[in-house]
Amino acid sequence: MRLGIDLDGVVANFNLGWITRYNVEFGTKLTEDLVDHWDAAGDLTHFPDLSEFWDWAGAAGGGPSVFRNLTTYPGSLATLNELAMNHDIVVLSMKPDWAAADTFAWVADKRIPTREIHLLRDKWKVDCDVYLDDSYQAVQALVEHRPDSIVCRFVRPWNEPVAGARDIHDWSEFCSFIKEEECVWSQPAPV
Ligand SMILES: [Mg+2]
Repeated sequence: MRLGIDLDGVVANFNLGWITRYNVEFGTKLTEDLVDHWDAAGDLTHFPDLSEFWDWAGAAGGGPSVFRNLTTYPGSLATLNELAMNHDIVVLSMKPDWAAADTFAWVADKRIPTREIHLLRDKWKVDCDVYLDDSYQAVQALVEHRPDSIVCRFVRPWNEPVAGARDIHDWSEFCSFIKEEECVWSQPAPV
């Protein structure tokens, strides 16, 4: 199967990445658990609006962007490597242009087992059998445009259930789910 996997909030811990850098630069003590809604960075930081947050996260002053040095969530890499033995891992990540090179470098550094990376907003344009994403809007759009695929919401404090999407709580659950699906998927069609 083709598994369409989002990066930030699913494989890459974007929140820990920007929070760690922010705490060092501004002497704050923000913690990951404070992120309980989408775009929480706008409310948790001193930046007057999100565009200034993104200017900072994109390292407008020089140096790599926040996307260059993210850690991976526990179990994500091991699971992707395991699933890649029988399936194609297709990276689907919404990124601004300035983050593209850092994202490719990060995927290489982490040795994400993929031959296919798409940086785009409309993830449904890339045909996959299963999608895994933490963005409410992305999951909604995938359910709407890909009725024949399985769409999974990676349950996080910043998203909500989407009708038609399956909830996944952690990487071991995703691994078991794909292994069940692969049994169904590999059955010969009834004659
Ligand atoms: Mg995401």
